[in-house]
Amino acid sequence: MPAVYLDHAATTPVRAEVIEAMAPYWTDISGNPSSIYDAGRNARHAIDAARDSVAADLNARSSEVIFTSGGTESDNAAIKGVAFASMHRGKHLITTAIEHHAVLHTCEWLGQFGFETTYLPVDGYGMVSPDDVRKAIRPDTVLISVMYANNEVGTVQPLAEIGRIARASRIPFHTDAVQAPGLLSIDVSTLGVDLLSLSAHKFYGPKGTGVLYVRGGTRWQPQQSGGAQERNRRGGTENTPGIVGLATALRLAVNERPATIAHVKPLRDDLIHRMLDTVGGSRLTGHPTERLQNNASFVFRQVEGESILLSLDMAQIGASSGSACTSGATEPSHVITALGLPSDWVRGSLRLTLGRTSSPEDIDAVMRVLPPALSRLRALSPGRVSAPTATS
Ligand SMILES: *Cc1c(COP(=O)(O)O)cnc(C)c1O
Repeated sequence: MPAVYLDHAATTPVRAEVIEAMAPYWTDISGNPSSIYDAGRNARHAIDAARDSVAADLNARSSEVIFTSGGTESDNAAIKGVAFASMHRGKHLITTAIEHHAVLHTCEWLGQFGFETTYLPVDGYGMVSPDDVRKAIRPDTVLISVMYANNEVGTVQPLAEIGRIARASRIPFHTDAVQAPGLLSIDVSTLGVDLLSLSAHKFYGPKGTGVLYVRGGTRWQPQQSGGAQERNRRGGTENTPGIVGLATALRLAVNERPATIAHVKPLRDDLIHRMLDTVGGSRLTGHPTERLQNNASFVFRQVEGESILLSLDMAQIGASSGSACTSGATEPSHVITALGLPSDWVRGSLRLTLGRTSSPEDIDAVMRVLPPALSRLRALSPGRVSAPTATS
């Protein structure tokens, strides 16, 4: 990891407590959870305990928790599982323009089976309007999927309100809550969701392991055939160490949520204020208050996000941008595009996401490196070539 790691929305380092909890399950004390001898039973018990623990953290029942390979699989299984279980009733899906590709590409993929998707717009802060959700509902709508907190700009959506609308219309409601653990409540009953996706590597757990919560009684069908694992809902030998690690990491994230927020929020606020106060041509992206407490994301006028990242990388600062260089030109991400910013701002996005180990020195490093880098880049920017230069 870079010396200054400010990309916790991309992934997080596995905590020592999590590694310790997982370690025994790579040894011969842990067999195939489906085997009847001791080693198999040890693995089975560990998975049962992990499921109970995750269920308690979600305020759900253990039978409603399915372990998966991560956020992408959970999103796929949630959406395809509801779509295929409901296709005799209708083929209309509602989601938003700012979802993760795991949701957007899944909805697009379902198009080949005759599904139509409404992509709700967001306002300039990246916020979905519950009223738009209500208006988008049709008699053939079978699923509403709205992410909890956006991974690029951090905006937190009004899930409870959307959940009430979904419930009143008896439409299953899924949320991609991958960015939430450790920062937001993940109580499925107050959120009013029927399906919810999580990914362990976003909350200091191992990569390649996730959760799909499916409320009992939801119209949904499994998307992975095979053995009878996960109560016939997800075939395949379970990832015992991964599941144990996920449950350990989730429990720590939930228990330490107040402490995490108390740590990251003042640092994040300091970063935002210093950036907006001292860097000309900078704007905050995402909602000013309804946002993840660890997210500071910006756009800078007349500069390219990728160039900013390279300058930061040279100073050993790891961050990310909502823009990517595709075939020689910088293109804004679908999220930045959906915010409707002026054209000379959209290419210069930067996302800084803090975590448990972030320090005031990390913020100082960014504020030391970034302003001169921006001035240099702007001076070089092709957009400036045609600007008046010193003549006569
Ligand atoms: C990271 C992320 C995913 C994908 O999760 P993986 O476990 O990496 O597949 C999905 N949705 C959001 C919002 C994410 O941030």
